[in-house]
This record gives sequence, C-alpha cells and structure tokens, in this order.
Amino acid sequence: MTESDIVQTIIRRFSSGDIRLTPQRISVYRYLLENRTHPTVDRVFNALKIENPSLSKTTIYNTVDTLTKAGLVRVVRTNEDEVRLDGYTDNHGHFYCTNCEEVYDFSLEGCAVPDSLHGFQMEEFDVRATGLCGSCKQKN
Ligand SMILES: [Zn+2]
Ligand SMILES: [Zn+2]
Repeated sequence: MTESDIVQTIIRRFSSGDIRLTPQRISVYRYLLENRTHPTVDRVFNALKIENPSLSKTTIYNTVDTLTKAGLVRVVRTNEDEVRLDGYTDNHGHFYCTNCEEVYDFSLEGCAVPDSLHGFQMEEFDVRATGLCGSCKQKN
C-alpha cells in the first residue's frame, strides 16, 4: 500500500466503523496495517512510544478496544492465551507456530461451511491451527 492508499483506507474504515479519527487511533491502526505480524499490545506500544514518548499503555489498550469493537481490528489468541492483534479482518485462518511464536495467515478458500450449520447466521468464522512452521520444522 502506498502512503495515500493507507491514509484513504484509514479514513474510509473509520467512517464505516463510525468512530472518530483521533491521532492515537490512527497511529495504532496504521501500525497494524503496515506490520502484518500480529503483534502483541506491548509490541505496538513499544513501537509507537518511540515517536510519542507521552503515550501510555492504558491509551493503547483503550484504543485497541475501540478499534476491535468497531470491527477494524481482530484479536487472535495464541496457545498461551496471549492476545495478538490483526488489522486485517477479512476472512483468513491463523497458524500459530509453537516454536518461534509467529502467527501466519492462510487463505480459507475452499473451506466450506458445513451442512450441519444450514440455516444458521454466521457472524464470525475463525480457523486456527497450531504446530511448527516450515523453517522451525526443518530445524528440528
Ligand atoms: Zn516457527
Ligand atoms: Zn491474520
């Protein structure tokens, strides 16, 4: 994404999520769009603190909470029940590597909703897998 793409995306998503644009919200959301690494709240805080030393961790927690409730940010839980953040809320699965603790995205193409759920209203479709990623498997 180019600079202006990111800015346009942020403005559009904030207005569709019906939340006000504040500098903190913009910087957290922007960080998540630019770093598709499923960071922890701590990691986001440490990265943003460099340019904004007055930032508090409470502000980050509150901001993440607002963005999550507005549907802009998705929370991914790892094995240790650690909360990781994802600025990409389109349907995709997550693979958690128990060795390097990275969270990898994967496409859910071809993943069909089972017949037994016919007539249900699906609001969220989460697919989570754990194990060893390719490079960790090779090292073992
Ligand atoms: Zn790994
Ligand atoms: Zn993801």
